[in-house]
Amino acid sequence: MTEDIRGEENRVVQECIQRLKEGQLAPWKVEDDLKSTYGMEIPENFRIATICRQLFIQAITGEHFHYIGIPEKPYKERYHCVKDDLILELDIRDENHTCNLCASRLKPLKQYAPLVANYVGGQEDYFSYAGQVVVKGDVQKTFTNLLVYGTGLGPIGVTRGCFLINKLGGANVRVEDSARAVRCLGFVFSTEESRQKAQAVIEAFLPEATDKMQDKMLEFGGRISSVDFDHAETQRGFILYVDFVAEFKHFRGHGDISSAVGFIKQEVEEKLLSQGVRYELSVIAQGHDGDLKPSHRNKRGRKALAQLRIPVADFEGFLKVDPEKFLSFVEVDDLGSQRLGCPFYSGMGGEILPAIYKATKVNPRSPLVSCFQNIYAEKDKGDVIFRVELPNIEVGVVSSREGLMSPIGREAMRVMGIHTAKEFAASVAAQVLAGEFNLALEISREKLYN
Ligand SMILES: [Zn+2]
Repeated sequence: MTEDIRGEENRVVQECIQRLKEGQLAPWKVEDDLKSTYGMEIPENFRIATICRQLFIQAITGEHFHYIGIPEKPYKERYHCVKDDLILELDIRDENHTCNLCASRLKPLKQYAPLVANYVGGQEDYFSYAGQVVVKGDVQKTFTNLLVYGTGLGPIGVTRGCFLINKLGGANVRVEDSARAVRCLGFVFSTEESRQKAQAVIEAFLPEATDKMQDKMLEFGGRISSVDFDHAETQRGFILYVDFVAEFKHFRGHGDISSAVGFIKQEVEEKLLSQGVRYELSVIAQGHDGDLKPSHRNKRGRKALAQLRIPVADFEGFLKVDPEKFLSFVEVDDLGSQRLGCPFYSGMGGEILPAIYKATKVNPRSPLVSCFQNIYAEKDKGDVIFRVELPNIEVGVVSSREGLMSPIGREAMRVMGIHTAKEFAASVAAQVLAGEFNLALEISREKLYN
């Protein structure tokens, strides 16, 4: 990449990197600065700005961009569909210049813009830089954030939020050491008596069953941490749910607990029959637990918290926000979510979390459960405490039988500074805290959407 820039161009790039390092130049303003300060032409400034940000990130992390490459022309162009009177924006590499809606020929407008805010590379997915965040507590590290966010201003919001968090001393995180994966057995009995007898038989078998299941989960180090019984009754009979919960440190473990429960199901059935307990039905009850459930009783994943303590003086000082207004906004927003019947508040996290999963390409690819979030803001000894809680972060960071990770995803994690599932969860929590904090400040100032 550096061989593409020479002489005068190289001097400009080096100067920009230096100003980015010193905080004299905001990363999302590089394109404009290259034009206004150095007289660089549009759209060439978009390519040089991307190079500046990549080299800057390499300099501060010591990691190299190899798979997250920069296309020769990293920008988009606006086109007009005369028939629909519609503006379309296309990646300059897209040579299909017909309208999605009516298939008519588009008219180029020769108006160019960067692919996404804070673009740092990527051919199919557009990676954005979203600042660095200092994390303390259960994980102590500075993470360098890369997001695949889409076209919105999200990466800029996260960058600004991180800047404020760092200025306030960093995000305090608490992250569980391991995560849970769950699978459930479901039985139907014709009498309450046979259900009770069955539960007793299964409970007596559990020590042996646990050992056998853990043998099945050896590769990923899965440990059975609890087996929970649940009862329900219908016209069909007396239902018994047996919920197996396993803990994994570095892996997601979903496939492992599934096959371990599938294996033990047969042995449980044999035990029941040999002791004269008849069941009407024996199945994997994946509706009860195990699959994606937006429920506060969901046992999947690990809990991660990120918290910020803000002295009231800082609120009135450099944050320029009335803390009471801030607290009231968070309450209005949180309550609004509850009024819709949401078991969780998903706020900005609903966008930031998928952006991190898309950048790192870790398992799970569809982080639905992981996107649940709660926000808290309260007064404590004259300070304001702002906290986000992610109850169910799920992640497998090791490229293995459990989930192949592309070289791009692995490179993204190296650049970000993530080497374990716990670090992944800490980094995610801090970035969500940053995005939410910046957004709550902007809204409290009544600046957003104005
Ligand atoms: Zn059209």
